[in-house]
Amino acid sequence: MKNIAILGSTGSIGRNTLEVIAQNRGRFRVVAMSAGSNIDLFEQQIKTFSPNLAVMADTAAAYALSKRFSKRVGGIEILSGAEGVNRVAGHADADFVISAIAGSAGLLPTITAIRAGKTVGIANKEALVMAGDIIMKEAKKNKVNIIPVDSEHSAVSQCIEGRNSAEIRRIILTASGGPFINKTKNALKNIKAKDALRHPNWSMGRKITIDSATLMNKGLEVIEACRLFDLPPEKVDVLIHPQSIIHSLVEFKDRSCLAQLSMPDMRGPIAYALSYPERLAEPIPGLELEKIGSLTFRKPDHDMFPCLSYAYEAMKTGGTAPAVLNAANEIAVYAFLENKIGFNDIPAVIRKTVESHTALLAPDLNDVLEADRWAREKAEHYVKELGI
Ligand code: MG
Repeated sequence: MKNIAILGSTGSIGRNTLEVIAQNRGRFRVVAMSAGSNIDLFEQQIKTFSPNLAVMADTAAAYALSKRFSKRVGGIEILSGAEGVNRVAGHADADFVISAIAGSAGLLPTITAIRAGKTVGIANKEALVMAGDIIMKEAKKNKVNIIPVDSEHSAVSQCIEGRNSAEIRRIILTASGGPFINKTKNALKNIKAKDALRHPNWSMGRKITIDSATLMNKGLEVIEACRLFDLPPEKVDVLIHPQSIIHSLVEFKDRSCLAQLSMPDMRGPIAYALSYPERLAEPIPGLELEKIGSLTFRKPDHDMFPCLSYAYEAMKTGGTAPAVLNAANEIAVYAFLENKIGFNDIPAVIRKTVESHTALLAPDLNDVLEADRWAREKAEHYVKELGI
């Protein structure tokens, strides 16, 4: 039996993780989980999976939740706030922690899990973008295995598995291209949040869906790949593949390429991470290539989707630059979702914020958090300046 702690159980990755666990009750037990503020869903999850510890980041929500469980004798402990979330991350009974809190809020709990010696399934790409160097160093120091849950990075590690990483010539991350890949740059101006939230292949949270539409998701994934696989950005390429069947490829030095294929379904990479090094039986529907017919590929248009280039530049600059890129993006995306700025203002806010930052090289965790705080304030300023 593997004991699992889930950071972010009510989000898209958290819900899919619980689905995989529900199908494999004999293998996995949920010992602790955290959520933000979605009380109703969290209550239901607690009743279904009976963890020892349940934490809501939102204090008022945690209080309301504890009232609902007040009549239960013994059993579950309910806590709140960042300290509570860290208790989930470092839970004494957990063997495996899934890090699925969206955005920069997931960084510190991820580090807590690593320092507690847990195997970490990492779905929180922002943590790797902000502080990937620090995370990977901590993982090495604590002899902790980090297993990517992001579908592309899961694909890459499945292709590399058992092979010497020095033999990698490059990796190729595939991108669906999002809902606007066939539009013109001019048409992007009038895109509304509700249009951008309709992703053609993947059902995901709101922030990542907007990131897919701007291609910033792929930009963040380039940085994530550099961190996870210790590669320079020159060795990470991006290819638009609208069918989302090949989740990524690895080209080895002999020019042989390996790819990982499956139906686009997050339960696939989640199941792989949870059960590694074994594989679970049928967590997702099978692939019927004869029905899909053809797989197509093309290069991304950097002019139309400048966020991708900004991510490469931030990775080349290094230090605090990726953290600033990530923070500016988060502010810009939420401003767009609240109709405060237009779609093409998202890259504009990011560019202005990144340009006004002088990157600190070899930052420690505090430097990263300070750069994150600084970038949010700057980006808010540019949101107001560009605001509709
Ligand atoms: Mg991905």
